[in-house]
Amino acid sequence: MAGNKTFTMLKPDAVENGYTGKILDMIIDAGFKIKAMKLTHLNEEQAKKFYEVHKDRPFYMELVEYMTSGPIVAAILEKENAVEDFRKLIGATDPAEAEEGTIRKYFAASKAKNAVHGSDSDENAEIECKFHFSDNEIVG
Ligand code: ADP
Ligand code: MG
Repeated sequence: MAGNKTFTMLKPDAVENGYTGKILDMIIDAGFKIKAMKLTHLNEEQAKKFYEVHKDRPFYMELVEYMTSGPIVAAILEKENAVEDFRKLIGATDPAEAEEGTIRKYFAASKAKNAVHGSDSDENAEIECKFHFSDNEIVG
């Protein structure tokens, strides 16, 4: 059965460019409930660990540098079929391929600086939520 929880980050370019409110509006309008949220600035160790699955990809260090370049907004989102529906809302990794009406189509600058993260499976959503939030930071 599909889970009801996903994890997102509004990435440094989105926060820096003042898109936080607009992106959160789109997320809430799409029916997601915010269960936890924080403004934070990842250090190198955290960014490397979060994106460890990509450690052998050529863009890994570029990604770590980008994700540590400024504050991010991390959040846990709840909705039926959350992971899949959120991936639809954010659009393709490369904004040039993202559908009209998606967050990345509106706000992503490039395939690297693509404004927003969304978990790709229920299993990873669980891991990513735990990576950023302790139980007492999540509302019931
Ligand atoms: P997604 O975020 O859509 O799940 P991936 O998991 O494949 O995409 O990649 C993680 C992140 O790494 C992307 O969101 C993007 O910021 C960055 N990235 C992916 N592919 C590239 C690339 N070819 N060059 C630079 N950065 C990339
Ligand atoms: Mg991914």
